[in-house]
Amino acid sequence: MSVSERPIVTRIAPSPTGSMHIGTARTALFNWLYAKHTGGRFLLRIEDTDRERSTESAVQVILDGLAWLGLEADAPAVFQYAQAERHREVVDELLLRGRAYRCWMTVEELAAEREIARAAGRAIRSPWRDQAAPSGVNLPHVVRFKGPIEGETLVNDLVKGPVLFQNRDLDDLVLLRSDGAPTYNLAVVVDDHDMGITHVIRGDDHLNNAARQTLIYQAMDWELPAFGHLPLIHGPDGAKLSKRHGAQAVGEFADMGYLPEAMRNYLARLGWGHGDDELFSDEQAIAWFDVKDVVKAPARLDWAKIAHVNNHYIRLADDGRLADLVIDAMAREGDVIAEGVRDRLIAVIPFVKEGAKTVLELRDLCRFAVAERPIVLNDKSVSLLAPETRERLLRLATRLADETIWTPPSLTVALRAFAESEGVGMGKFGPALRAVLSGGLPAPDLAGALSALGRDESLGRMDDALSRVE
Ligand code: GLU
Repeated sequence: MSVSERPIVTRIAPSPTGSMHIGTARTALFNWLYAKHTGGRFLLRIEDTDRERSTESAVQVILDGLAWLGLEADAPAVFQYAQAERHREVVDELLLRGRAYRCWMTVEELAAEREIARAAGRAIRSPWRDQAAPSGVNLPHVVRFKGPIEGETLVNDLVKGPVLFQNRDLDDLVLLRSDGAPTYNLAVVVDDHDMGITHVIRGDDHLNNAARQTLIYQAMDWELPAFGHLPLIHGPDGAKLSKRHGAQAVGEFADMGYLPEAMRNYLARLGWGHGDDELFSDEQAIAWFDVKDVVKAPARLDWAKIAHVNNHYIRLADDGRLADLVIDAMAREGDVIAEGVRDRLIAVIPFVKEGAKTVLELRDLCRFAVAERPIVLNDKSVSLLAPETRERLLRLATRLADETIWTPPSLTVALRAFAESEGVGMGKFGPALRAVLSGGLPAPDLAGALSALGRDESLGRMDDALSRVE
């Protein structure tokens, strides 16, 4: 079966050398969407051949990042280093086919050739390409690919369109190092072939590699996958995304309180889109997504947009789930989570979540409700409690204690009726009530704050403040 007839298999192939970059997350998403769109499979390969830079913890960061994003692979991860024997077998086959050769150039010879090649504007060539082995074959050597020197190699990229490479510009890349370690371009080709990958969708920093990899496929008479190279993600100012633009790692976005479904929605819009649709479900993205619709220009991260999308999903999210996320955020900062906090959060979240762009903002909007009695009043709050106002609030407390229905509409009515009975506007006691309920922390409107706190807590806080001796 040719690639076009086989069920589609996509993959991401991150190197476990640090955090999981937002670009890797977007690459994973596009591969996942395309696999789902076509009823195919999405696979994960951990490219851990660089033994010095690869770490166990970085592998875990990738697995956790994908799990958090909801982009789990359809099969257990393949570890590239574990396939090294297989990579060497393929090199033997290339040697047999006359498509690879052993090269005994010394470090000095290579450096000299590099200079000459640079000056002549051509790719480096090894004298061993067309020479028999030297005597004393045990000398250290690498194995190089024997690429064509003439002609062109076409990468028919799904995103970039046809890209032509002159073969003379491609040097004979090293396939096996002198210690027998397979190199990156060889390993990628062998693994993608063995995993049955039909579509290689990755960052466009790998476009040049696609030409080299194409030559290896051809030398092995393997069928080529389709390539799709995604433009990078840039910062809001159009420069390459870097630390100064803010968060870059998936874990940072998670800690800042972006929801995974918001990330999927937002990242899908980075370089791809469906008309002007800003907010869409996974099902819609899966139905609509096609690699060939990815745009060629780099996408820019837009913090206002990501906040808007996240706010949308926070509003849709289950309050219990949000409460757990707020508790996690509090615990990460070392807050002791008292008993009953989760219930209080669930009570307050519906009143404040509209205003939250992240879980951290949600946490801040909930702080007034989880504070333990007696709550601390900031100076401004205390200054609002003039004797006359205290008297009025005491009368209000008595009145509220009689309220049988503790909901925003009935509390709004009760507050208005109280103002009327006092012959004053709400401004005469509203700010003070708010201060007493929140201590000066951000809080929803009065009826919302009273509702969120519940009757006992609200009346308790009023009592605490009004019985304070100044
Ligand atoms: N391991 C490569 C990287 O982390 C990706 C290779 C590929 O997708 O072919 O950039």
